[in-house]
Amino acid sequence: MILIVDDKPENIFSLKTILELHSFPTDTALSGEEALKKVLRNSYALIILDVQMPGMDGFEVAEAMSGYSKARDIPILFLSAANTDKKWITKGYSSGGTDYITKPIDTDILLLKVKTFYRLYEQNRELNRIHASLRSEIEFRKKIEEELQEAVRKRDEFISIASHELKTPLTTIKAYAQLLDRSIGTEDPTKLYVDRTLVQVRKLDNLIVDLLDLSKIESGKLKFNKKLFSFGATLTNAIEMIRQTNPDYRITRTGEADVELYGDEMRIEQVIVNYLTNAVKYSPEKKEIDIEASARVDGRLFVQVRDYGIGIGKDHQANVFSKFYRVEESATQFQGLGIGLYICAEIIRRHDGEYGVQSEPGQGAAFYFSVPLRSEESLQKVG
Ligand code: ADP
Repeated sequence: MILIVDDKPENIFSLKTILELHSFPTDTALSGEEALKKVLRNSYALIILDVQMPGMDGFEVAEAMSGYSKARDIPILFLSAANTDKKWITKGYSSGGTDYITKPIDTDILLLKVKTFYRLYEQNRELNRIHASLRSEIEFRKKIEEELQEAVRKRDEFISIASHELKTPLTTIKAYAQLLDRSIGTEDPTKLYVDRTLVQVRKLDNLIVDLLDLSKIESGKLKFNKKLFSFGATLTNAIEMIRQTNPDYRITRTGEADVELYGDEMRIEQVIVNYLTNAVKYSPEKKEIDIEASARVDGRLFVQVRDYGIGIGKDHQANVFSKFYRVEESATQFQGLGIGLYICAEIIRRHDGEYGVQSEPGQGAAFYFSVPLRSEESLQKVG
């Protein structure tokens, strides 16, 4: 709507007629004071404002309006009687859209200017609408993100509390089962059941340890106790551990890895045990595993565990090191939480290492990692 402000009803009448003839809706005010009241109540696309009026003149009205947030941006088309008014036109008015037209009014010029202002007004309105809808979209997404973060946070908190709570009774169960195992003779018919119980208890224990590690990673509390250690012995230990629990698997070791490595021995062993455990778990048919470990000329230790099991499709290979990621097609067939490799990745990263997997579905997988034998950090510490 266009507000026409003029103290002379005949001027108002002629302007109103011209504008309405061209389909512009109008409103009118016979004084500056009335105009000010109206701009506070209604929304206008443009104000056509006579400069010379008794009481408040056009400039005073414009100046007063510039103080109203509601009216500040409404463009004003001043109607000035004399050319001398021109230099005062923008006085005291901060609107981006200000123009003038001299009397007697040239209808064509008036319409041209009104049309331009109106078009600007409509474009502005559209922009504001888009702006508002973008804002509400952003607000909505922000809210969802906050809710999601809160839900992650809560899940991590739950995992941390639950794993701590589970660990204590399980440690007791493990201790009693081990006592029982030692106190009964090898010929005792119940020994089989005690051994089976211990196997399951160890599985549960490993799961809880993984959950605890996960919550430590999430809270930035996974600590490393790095020093120089003989990697060859660690590797032998890890392989022996897997051999003992999986005597039906043939594990072949290759490469030369009798080296001193600077790192957290337990954590490096954990990565190898994890790779080997997965190799066993995901190759139920073909019970052969190759492990290669070699110190390379570039000063890095390379370790690769190859199995001949179910393998991993190309689409999944990049994701298997992500938290909770499990290959969907095989998830129901094999038990797991999808956090072992995530923990491995974190351990390797914290040793400035690299990791990855190569696989052909149905033909097995080769999981590898490499770490510098001496990181920058170790050179500073051990020299
Ligand atoms: P989990 O074995 O408990 O599910 P991991 O983090 O160790 O968790 O492994 C993530 C996923 O990667 C597994 O669920 C499995 O889909 C896939 N995966 C890991 N190791 C192998 C492997 N040797 N062969 C085939 N798939 C594997």
